[in-house]
Amino acid sequence: MRVFFSPRQLAHAPASEFSRGEMIAFRECPVRAQSILAALAAAGFPAPEQPDDPGLAPVLAIHDGEYVDFLRTAWTRWRAGGATVAAYPTAWPVPGIGERRPDTVEGLLGWYIFDSGTPIVAETWDAVKAGADTAHAGALAVATGARSAFALCRPPGHHAARALAGGYCYLNNAAIAAQALRDQGAGRVAILDVDYHHGNGTQEIFYERGDVLFVSLHADPAFGYPYYTGYGDQSGRGAGEGTTLNLPLAAGTTEAEWLAALDHGLGRLGDFAADAVVVSLGVDTWEGDPLSHFKVSARAFPALGARLAGLGLPTLFVMEGGYATAELGKNVVGVLSGFEDA
Ligand SMILES: [Zn+2]
Repeated sequence: MRVFFSPRQLAHAPASEFSRGEMIAFRECPVRAQSILAALAAAGFPAPEQPDDPGLAPVLAIHDGEYVDFLRTAWTRWRAGGATVAAYPTAWPVPGIGERRPDTVEGLLGWYIFDSGTPIVAETWDAVKAGADTAHAGALAVATGARSAFALCRPPGHHAARALAGGYCYLNNAAIAAQALRDQGAGRVAILDVDYHHGNGTQEIFYERGDVLFVSLHADPAFGYPYYTGYGDQSGRGAGEGTTLNLPLAAGTTEAEWLAALDHGLGRLGDFAADAVVVSLGVDTWEGDPLSHFKVSARAFPALGARLAGLGLPTLFVMEGGYATAELGKNVVGVLSGFEDA
């Protein structure tokens, strides 16, 4: 398995986030990536390769140009207004307040960032671009003959939509990788999102496309973030009708229930006859994760890897969530080793 990582991703390190009425330490922290790197090395995986810089084309194949301009310039504009700490949105264009895109950086923060957990600091753009490059490099590796690759992306990406950041995500690394696989000749690509949270961004990006299947197992939006998407009756639209499969799961979901849902999703993936698979790999499903309300033990992770290997398809793992930093690396390596050893 080839491994890709850009250390530039470590520089994005906001200090805090808003949670239940108070500011707490930012959970999506650089230590997450370091935990994974240490566990990969300890398990004998190859040293990570640094991605090439393919320019902005792979990003703009997925994201809106004005949105990308906003991400690139927001910090400078925020600083120009006299602020010196992280830029957070404080107002949002929810239904009832209007639909005019503002010009001020304060207005644009709410226009383009849908929650308060996704601040912009000086290093954000460079780090998220490096993350997109990492996913893109992994896709090229798989497209040119590697059986599998792991793109260690951080910040994660699956909550980022065509013109929206949120949920710690700015650019949708898995979507950028899936599009790169299509552009390299894969006729049909499947994205399997096993993060604890619904991949609303990935769903939105491919909702009307028939060439990319999106299957997601996640906490039911009836109780879990991001609350507004991830319902079982969202199945795609137009040419994409039937190419979105949401499998929302209840609080307290056990390992056996989670694996049964996984098998259901993999069945759809088999029917789709994909040429390649992108796995949005979040391990915040783990019962010890601070964000999880599942009862899924670490045994589920090698089982997931083995089932994915059983598909017999070129497979790219793209890192998403997982916030129990001490155990994060071990859980990720559990999936990747399960794949390798199958
Ligand atoms: Zn998550």
